[in-house]
Amino acid sequence: PYDVLIVGGGPAGAAAAIYAARKGIRTGVVAERFGGQVLDTLSIENFVSVQETDGPKFAVALEQHVRSYDVDIMNVQLASELVPGKLIEIKLKDGGSLKSKTVILATGARWKNINVPGENEYRNKGVAYCPHCDGPLFKGKRVSVIGGGNSGVEAAIDLAGIVGHVTLVEFGAELRADAVLQRKLHSLANVTVITSAQTTEITGDGKRVNGLIYKDRKTEEIKTVELEGVFIQIGLVPNTEWLKGTVALSRHGEIEIDARGQTSIPGVFAAGDVTTVPYKQIVIAVGEGSKAALSAFDHLIRSSDT
Ligand code: FAD
Repeated sequence: PYDVLIVGGGPAGAAAAIYAARKGIRTGVVAERFGGQVLDTLSIENFVSVQETDGPKFAVALEQHVRSYDVDIMNVQLASELVPGKLIEIKLKDGGSLKSKTVILATGARWKNINVPGENEYRNKGVAYCPHCDGPLFKGKRVSVIGGGNSGVEAAIDLAGIVGHVTLVEFGAELRADAVLQRKLHSLANVTVITSAQTTEITGDGKRVNGLIYKDRKTEEIKTVELEGVFIQIGLVPNTEWLKGTVALSRHGEIEIDARGQTSIPGVFAAGDVTTVPYKQIVIAVGEGSKAALSAFDHLIRSSDT
């Protein structure tokens, strides 16, 4: 069996693998896609100490760093079940199974798509999902935020301080964000809020986004907004479908962890975007992954039979 088995090969899983391997303990990583969300990222400008890089380059560096240690990497393998016990079992979708004394869950999350024409075509060419990451790329420009929940309204307030103008587009008749956020939003001079609006298309000139088309759900009128960027903020979904009924999850489906990354099951830790930790960022996932590995090591040295 492994001493530490990590499920997920994004920034959190990679950091956990490095920290575990450096303790000289038997470490494995199972990942559906080594690199994680970073593979879908163009420019990265906020990984502290690296002024600028891109996602694929960052993913290669992550993998090289992990491979410089004695770590079993099992790539393109999907975990489908966790069975608690003295040895924890991770069952794989292809029928295999792995056992480990401790497990670190780092399966990340995915942004919900709105699935309208233009979204895929202009991804990273004006269509964005992360205001902390991509906000500065739209300095002085016109953008829209789709989604009037807490994350959409927070994004609109954040972006209003950087970009020229923000149009917030909400499908429902009212915003769903907390009242204090709505008050702040309405106090900003360069924000327009449109409710009862169904986004039907993100348009572009073939190279970059140049507008958004929506249907006014009250009048059925089709309207166009000219802009340079669209931030889609309709939810981040943690990859925990396979864990339902085992580890404790929050009402948003995130794995609940304490300050050490411990989950509700002894010997099972979690890190990164898949957990309740606030702010989903690479630098945070890396810190959390390292922390979970140190906690797993601490758990091992305190267990009587190791
Ligand atoms: P992930 O990166 O999501 O990795 C999860 C890993 O788990 C993957 O290897 C996946 O294949 C694997 N996995 C999932 N389910 C299973 C399963 N059942 N079995 C086995 N493996 C599984 N952050 C920044 O800090 N700066 C940026 O500029 C930035 N830009 C971004 C741009 C885009 C387009 C996106 C989508 C995100 C961006 N982020 C950025 C956010 C950042 O990518 C995430 O916060 C970070 O990748 C989280 O790391 P993670 O390891 O927790 O999860």
